[in-house]
Amino acid sequence: MNKEEITKFLSTDTKNEELFNYADKIRHDYVGDSVHLRGLIEFSNICKRQCMYCGLRSNNKNIERYRILEDELLETVKNAVSLGYKTIVLQSGEDEFYTTEKLVRIIKEIKKFDIALTLSIGEREEEEYREFKKAGADRYLLRIETTDEKLYKKMHPASSFKNRIKCLENLKKLGYEVGTGSLIGLPEQTISSIADDILFFKEIDADMVGIGPFIPHPNTPLKNSNEGDFNLALKAMALTRILLKNINIPATTAMETINPNGRIIALKSGANVVMPNVGNTIYRKKYEIYPGKICLNDGAQKCRNCIEQKIKSIDRYIASDYGFRQK
Ligand code: SAH
Repeated sequence: MNKEEITKFLSTDTKNEELFNYADKIRHDYVGDSVHLRGLIEFSNICKRQCMYCGLRSNNKNIERYRILEDELLETVKNAVSLGYKTIVLQSGEDEFYTTEKLVRIIKEIKKFDIALTLSIGEREEEEYREFKKAGADRYLLRIETTDEKLYKKMHPASSFKNRIKCLENLKKLGYEVGTGSLIGLPEQTISSIADDILFFKEIDADMVGIGPFIPHPNTPLKNSNEGDFNLALKAMALTRILLKNINIPATTAMETINPNGRIIALKSGANVVMPNVGNTIYRKKYEIYPGKICLNDGAQKCRNCIEQKIKSIDRYIASDYGFRQK
């Protein structure tokens, strides 16, 4: 598919059913019917950046900040492992408290469990990425958010587009499985740029792609902007599956936030991964990147049971392996 064809699908809703069914078939043929669960731990909401859409931006004073320290973090991991998780995702704002040294120690401890480890902690130096990899980190999530450089600059006043790209290149070079993705529905975002996002995922040969609608947060400069369109996000995701075939694609939590059945719909339109939260519920509401997050008061066990039920209800099953990309 070339840009013109991608744009055509993104611009109309008349071919949606065909598109979603085809993405579902590609998903079935290339990665099968299993669904990989990744246990998500949001370990710090402290962030030095100013991303215009994100509730964790450092200018937001209307938020109670927290950090989970090493011992508690390892307890959380242990609990997730006992629930059967084969991948743990450590996510946070860009918090310099977690130095290379601290993170290396944490990574090594976590890797004593028989699991794969994903980091999602933002932009760091190449040398740090190398140390994390050496310590045992397997994967890294760093969404490009948008490939429209002008829009990127507007959305990220305290960051550089070139550095974001550089980070993705470094991660690839160091041998991580690299996840990226974008936000759908940012103010002034065009259909053409979303098509470019999808081509970018292909160009860098992303191993994972997470796509979700933008959801306006009341304590950010974008509080009065419109929410992203569910179907447009779903189409971008389905097209990504059709183009990249064997990669891992999560049914994102943001999709379920704007559509009560969002994750199941996504799983039937190309997705094969779900990332349930395995953290302590006391931190959930504080990690408010966007409002209306689902399952705020549900513990790790409850989330696991709930998603398991949903997955079984569509004749899919939970994978028991680590869930690396199937090449
Ligand atoms: N600091 C890390 C993790 C960011 S949070 C990093 O920079 O990679 C994970 C993702 O949440 C972001 O990549 C962004 O795409 C998404 N996100 C942030 N604010 C959002 C909002 N208002 N609506 C929807 N998704 C949002």
